[in-house]
Amino acid sequence: MDARFVRKFPLQPAPQTALMPELPEVQTVVNTLEPALSGRAFVSATLNRQDIVTPAGTDLCRLIVGRRIASITRRGKRIVFSLDDGGRFYVHLGMSGRLTLANHETPLPRHTHFIARFDAPETRELRFTDPRRFGGLWWLGTEESEGEGMGPEPLTLKSKDLIRRLGRTGRAIKNALLDQTVIAGLGNIYVDESLHAAGIHPLTPAQVLTAEQVGRLNRAIKTILRRAIRHRGSTLRDYRDANGQAGNFQKIHRVYGRTGQPCPRCHSPIERIVLGGRSTHFCLHCQPPHKPYPAPLLRGMVV
Ligand SMILES: [Zn+2]
Repeated sequence: MDARFVRKFPLQPAPQTALMPELPEVQTVVNTLEPALSGRAFVSATLNRQDIVTPAGTDLCRLIVGRRIASITRRGKRIVFSLDDGGRFYVHLGMSGRLTLANHETPLPRHTHFIARFDAPETRELRFTDPRRFGGLWWLGTEESEGEGMGPEPLTLKSKDLIRRLGRTGRAIKNALLDQTVIAGLGNIYVDESLHAAGIHPLTPAQVLTAEQVGRLNRAIKTILRRAIRHRGSTLRDYRDANGQAGNFQKIHRVYGRTGQPCPRCHSPIERIVLGGRSTHFCLHCQPPHKPYPAPLLRGMVV
């Protein structure tokens, strides 16, 4: 990968416990932006901070003004804009980013770093706000792949491919699934929910999982992501879709953020450990530990 593109937001999970938009939230933003902006031309663009654009020094506004949006798609957690001249850029929401459409008369929120207007309707503008600035805009040009170095998309991933990818690593399955080079788009919430649905303990070394377990996990990931997209994602703090609406999937989380509450399947209390700096939620009854980890150690454990 071109070193110029590796800025602030590596493909490895960021070392913090804060929540960030994952695949369903990013897909929901795309689903709300695409019908509104596809076919529209940028008539103006303003950057209030140049340092949110990568590669540094790119004159993004000059590159996009006058160009028509051919499509808006998602790759992993990236919102990819393709222009009519073949140029492309993507927006990453980072931890606290929002990409919203607003009437230009609506007062600008604080930390609005990028604003663009279109040929129609002229009253509407696209705004990128990001108080914590882990997100940003990446110019890809016509050559660079929007998924350089990134693992496959989970919604279309075949079990045999996931078996092959997980078989290469002895890392805890939770950490392997968070690694964007193994599989794209998953984060803390949907990994915890998928592992619970598949009955797999989050500390299980990835390569000891059986083909049957990985098959179940692959199906669980797809089911949960699709359900979350239908509920317009999970809003726990910052996330909103392009129309400023919160998601609803957090209301039906089965383990994430439910420490001490009964497991919806067996009524045992949901456990929480900290794994690689991240809160990890699971049911010790439905997700029995792999043998080297004695169960009493797994309560309140920090790994
Ligand atoms: Zn349970």
